[in-house]
Amino acid sequence: MPKTQVLCPQCKQPIVVDIQRLFDVGQQPEAKQLILSGMFNWVECPHCGYQGPYPTPIVYHDPDKELLLVYVPPELGLSQDEQEKIVGPLIEQAIRQLPQEKRKAYLLNPQQVLSLRSLQERILEADGITKEMIEAEEKRVKLLQRLLTAPESELVNILKAEDESIDSTFFQTLSQLIDAALAGEDQASAQRLRRVLELALEHTTEGQRQREVVDELKALDQLLARLGPHVPPDTLRRELLNWLLEKPTDSRLQALVTLLRPALDYAFFQAFTERINQIPDEAERERLTQVRERLLALTQAVDQLAQQYEQQVRQLIHSLTHQEDIDRAVQGILPVVDEGFLQILQDEMERARQRGQVTYGQKLQQVWDAIQKALAPPPEVQFLEQLLATPDPKARRQLMEQHLDLVTPEMVNYIARLRAQAEQGGPLAPYKELLQQVYNELAHFMTTRNLRGSNGDGRA
Ligand SMILES: [Zn+2]
Repeated sequence: MPKTQVLCPQCKQPIVVDIQRLFDVGQQPEAKQLILSGMFNWVECPHCGYQGPYPTPIVYHDPDKELLLVYVPPELGLSQDEQEKIVGPLIEQAIRQLPQEKRKAYLLNPQQVLSLRSLQERILEADGITKEMIEAEEKRVKLLQRLLTAPESELVNILKAEDESIDSTFFQTLSQLIDAALAGEDQASAQRLRRVLELALEHTTEGQRQREVVDELKALDQLLARLGPHVPPDTLRRELLNWLLEKPTDSRLQALVTLLRPALDYAFFQAFTERINQIPDEAERERLTQVRERLLALTQAVDQLAQQYEQQVRQLIHSLTHQEDIDRAVQGILPVVDEGFLQILQDEMERARQRGQVTYGQKLQQVWDAIQKALAPPPEVQFLEQLLATPDPKARRQLMEQHLDLVTPEMVNYIARLRAQAEQGGPLAPYKELLQQVYNELAHFMTTRNLRGSNGDGRA
């Protein structure tokens, strides 16, 4: 990319940036990800610290999807003539790069979008992520809200009435919500969600299918246990094929894709084809060819989901780095932080290092630190856990001596609140007496320490 001297959008001092105006996926496959992440023409001004995309007209071209999109940031205030002077040569360049046979009518009709967001939406739409899918998602959320608020006696009726709209995504969303509730220690919600899940598994068509998949997952697990961890790839392929062909149901295919996607590689599908070709009966060959096609489609769907997830996480991470108060912003996204999220964040940090994006890298580090901090229990909680795990009052007193900064009225109030909760049952109930005792000890310790402090101990 050519280094260009431009004026900083904020302080108007000259800065040098890599400006790219033509994003041609045919020439540069990562161009798509660049646009979707918003991480292109990135400016980090050394004079005023401004960070953001440098606003400039761009042309996006994806020859396979026959997409030719033009985006001219309105804030530039360019006249039609000025726009054409910049955009025209970019489109010509995109066409020149194409072999003759691929030059089609869409190239004569570039489509203008009015915002970066609509540019991104058009690209996603061409990937099959439609408005309908977004609407289906909204419908799903509404149904879940209904299920979470309706009286328990009505749950089965609602589930039966909504049978048609309850699909695998519904179950995925439900499990994610359960995980999130457990992570937030929201026991009541988790319990309610689990009840909905149980009933949905029992009373819906998709639930029945899901149970079959679970059974097949168990069967597959047993097969793998029997083969042991050091099974040679050839044997594994043969055994998996045998297992699949013994009963090639949809649930078995689903289980295979869910548990062993990496094993379903090119060699596996080749072995599958060879096996089919050995079958003398033509109708049987035809039937198994369809099974093979179906398995291939399932693996592709799984891959696409993984890709979408990664894209969403990258966008989320990117938007976090723009927040003024990163610590606070991180609090809002904790429910979606899982191992996959942290891996993508690390990968994003590595990319920033490689590209030399120092400021962006520092922001990512801040996001990382904020997440680690938010995930670690606060010192008060750690201190209380230590106290509760220490059986002997003398040893507890020593702990208090060691953590004088945590022996505060707030700490005493905190324990009082927990003790009150414990009295109402719930997960703390078994600690009721211990909490009372620790409360007494801590209150006593604090009072005597304050007395000593007023006598000139100097530590208070
Ligand atoms: Zn500046």
